[in-house]
Amino acid sequence: MILVLKPGAPEQQKQELIRHIEGMGLRIHESVGEGTTILGLVGDTSRIDSYIFSSYEIVKNVLRVSEPFKRANRMFKPDDTVIDVCGRKIGQGYFVVISGPCSVESEEQIVGIARELKKAGASFLRGGAYKPRTSPYSFQGLGLEGLDYLKIAKQETGLPIVSEIMSTDVLDRFIEDVDIIQVGARNMQNFVLLKELGRTNKPVLLKRGLSATIEEWLMSAEYILSEGNENVILCERGIRTFENYTRNTLDLSSVLAVKRLSHLPVIVDPSHGTGRYWMVEPMSKAAVTLGADGVIIEVHNNPKFALSDGEQSITPKKYAHILPALRKYCEIENKKLEA
Ligand code: PEP
Ligand code: MN
Repeated sequence: MILVLKPGAPEQQKQELIRHIEGMGLRIHESVGEGTTILGLVGDTSRIDSYIFSSYEIVKNVLRVSEPFKRANRMFKPDDTVIDVCGRKIGQGYFVVISGPCSVESEEQIVGIARELKKAGASFLRGGAYKPRTSPYSFQGLGLEGLDYLKIAKQETGLPIVSEIMSTDVLDRFIEDVDIIQVGARNMQNFVLLKELGRTNKPVLLKRGLSATIEEWLMSAEYILSEGNENVILCERGIRTFENYTRNTLDLSSVLAVKRLSHLPVIVDPSHGTGRYWMVEPMSKAAVTLGADGVIIEVHNNPKFALSDGEQSITPKKYAHILPALRKYCEIENKKLEA
């Protein structure tokens, strides 16, 4: 349930209403937008007669929110969320390009790629230190050593870091060294991990689960938001369908759905979404056109020899060609490419 307040509602009357709501055992999510204040009620409101609140002088409207996600709901917060990470904005009129190798393989590799990305105009550096691989015999990532190398790459280039966390054991290190913590598709419903991240104020990049519905994905965002962390960025990375020409089916329509349902920024991963390097550029352009707030692209110095996801990785040279094209698309869509 949400209460839309009349413009200029006196503070004292608002506090009185808030006390009433909290006295009923409900929590409040307040959103102050241009000209309107919305009080979102969190808790079981199913048996509450909306008249209780509509009888207040300062209440303009009482609306029921039928979706199970509340804090992530656009009804709770009509304005787009904009998240500032190291001076780069994500959401609304801004577009970010996060790029880098699937896995951090060595100091030389990550620093070398980071330098080329920086030159081309990237916004963030991605690199996996902990890799969720289907086979236990595949490369599992360098772990903390990988984080050390990412830190060096950041020192060298100034690019903020995005990296995936798989366990709460290393959360302190991630909070210290990583600028955006990625939750991978396989952990989208690791609720213990989501709650822990919710108790921090670190930006979280929440990837859509392998077969997750849009509602399940938003409910996972709700886990983080409900613990108090409002810095959630959603990432569409393709879902499993009957089709196997591509690695996944990149569900670009979810960008439109999420934009309508939620105020949270949403970015697109054309690399995992297709599994094919030559689809990365057109899918990235489509993402800009659909109103996505960014893309995350895998770039490798030598894709044939990459320790993971080489077949979907583009070279730095190709990347340097894609970026100016994306910048043009951003101009058409009135978005600023953050770098
Ligand atoms: C990745 O970003 O390298 C990754 C493993 O992504 P996803 O969780 O989307 O499969
Ligand atoms: Mn990958």
